[in-house]
Amino acid sequence: MMRFAVLGSGSGGNAAIIECGDLRLMVDAGLSAKQLSTRIRLLGLEPSQLDGILLTHEHGDHVRGLRVFLKQFQVPVYATPATARVVKETGIAGGTWKLFEAGNPFAIGDAVIESFAIQHDAVDPVGFVIGHRERRLGLLSDAGFVTRSMSAQLKGLNSLFVEANYDDDLLEADTKRPWSIKQRISSRHGHLSNAQVRDLIQEIAHPGLVRVVLGHLSSDCNSPEVVLRHLRECLDGLGHGLTQLHCARQDEPSQWFGID
Ligand SMILES: [Zn+2]
Ligand SMILES: [Zn+2]
Repeated sequence: MMRFAVLGSGSGGNAAIIECGDLRLMVDAGLSAKQLSTRIRLLGLEPSQLDGILLTHEHGDHVRGLRVFLKQFQVPVYATPATARVVKETGIAGGTWKLFEAGNPFAIGDAVIESFAIQHDAVDPVGFVIGHRERRLGLLSDAGFVTRSMSAQLKGLNSLFVEANYDDDLLEADTKRPWSIKQRISSRHGHLSNAQVRDLIQEIAHPGLVRVVLGHLSSDCNSPEVVLRHLRECLDGLGHGLTQLHCARQDEPSQWFGID
């Protein structure tokens, strides 16, 4: 049995929990340690039950709670060498670090972790595909661009968590952000737009893709209504009306999503 839940997602902090049988993994630790623990408990687990924390990249909204969390709970951290180095420089002493290279699969218990390099303004950002028995969950957050090799990695998934950061029209119309920030967001090393997610889904949708959970929505330049409508139309048009769509929230954990 495999399931996952998003503890929170957005520029204020990101973390998700994946359960594969008895194995429990957290991807990123970007909420405060207190919020991580509170939300893990809201999902019916104890933080001490985690078997590993996988890091996508070193940005604060993905690692903010890690230092304090590791003082409270002895959980091994899995990261690429470059990400581990810069995260440790934020003042993390000790802990158990397990290093992996993007592209080299490894096992944690009976789960297989595949990682792939992504485009983002971080030292060595990665996306993950977590496999358990016949099930595969893809996680892609903070990517400026979807390359062919990334979409190839994400084929055949049963569930996908993907960032849908901004809507092109809403970003264009936003008057609060200076041009330079808009450029950074929409650059090849920034974040994914709704249209980029639509293109990815067109590439990888198949009858076995039960669910897509959208995250990291900008509060000003996107909305659940806009992105859900956009992608619902896309999936229905592809003949995948049964693929479920959800938006993860910043302020509260999602429900558990079964990966079946
Ligand atoms: Zn980032
Ligand atoms: Zn982020």
